[in-house]
Amino acid sequence: MIRIENLHKSYPIGKDSLHVLKGLDLHIKEGEFVSIMGSSGSGKSTLLNIVGLLDGHDEGNYFLNGQLIENLNEKKAAILRNKFLGFVFQSFNLISYKTAQENVALPLYYKGVGRKERLKIASEYLDKVGLKPWENHLPNELSGGQKQRVAIARALATSPKVILADEPTGALDSTTTDSVMDLLKGINDEGMTVFVITHEEEVAEQTDRIVRLKDGVIISDELTESGKSKTLQNVR
Ligand code: ADP
Ligand code: MG
Repeated sequence: MIRIENLHKSYPIGKDSLHVLKGLDLHIKEGEFVSIMGSSGSGKSTLLNIVGLLDGHDEGNYFLNGQLIENLNEKKAAILRNKFLGFVFQSFNLISYKTAQENVALPLYYKGVGRKERLKIASEYLDKVGLKPWENHLPNELSGGQKQRVAIARALATSPKVILADEPTGALDSTTTDSVMDLLKGINDEGMTVFVITHEEEVAEQTDRIVRLKDGVIISDELTESGKSKTLQNVR
């Protein structure tokens, strides 16, 4: 689903440049539940932005669903994002004057789905994340955990192949964190590839595979207990 080879990324800082990603190799198969773990400033968001086609890379190869990503302009990137990717961010990024249902329906508007149909689909996804009764409420009437559920429903609404989540639990308390991670786990159980970025060990532990990033390189890439037991099930 995602294949990265010798990926490099630098940012220009004044007359210098800051080398953030220093040759990453990573392969994520369809249906995996993976976390990237690393301290603040280690380059996690930089990696997610490249994977999410929100930013380009300087060196190396990136294949999304088998397609080599190169010479993308914003229009081509947007088409690929709409087709393959759903995003979840720490700060939810909901539109404050739109209801939960309208927020979830918005990406379908950009896909050209008619109003009635997109509101119906949005309702179904809100039901899936347990928020059907809240569909006519505005974001400021929802708790943090509920807002993140709306954001997850919105990410799912366009039927992406991968969910990319940058610190999805960063603004939540530990109980709400667990329930959001349970939701992502349930979505993965249905076959969705889920890629979570976090600096919290407890969050990473809830995925099947932890990739550790430090000083711009991958220092480890290991299955968790749940990842190991899934692998065993596949072998049997
Ligand atoms: P993380 O998500 O792991 O906290 P980031 O990928 O956001 O780390 O940032 C990695 C490094 O790159 C940091 O030192 C940050 O200051 C720098 N950085 C991130 N985005 C930019 C940018 N757009 N321009 C310049 N420097 C950036
Ligand atoms: Mg970050």
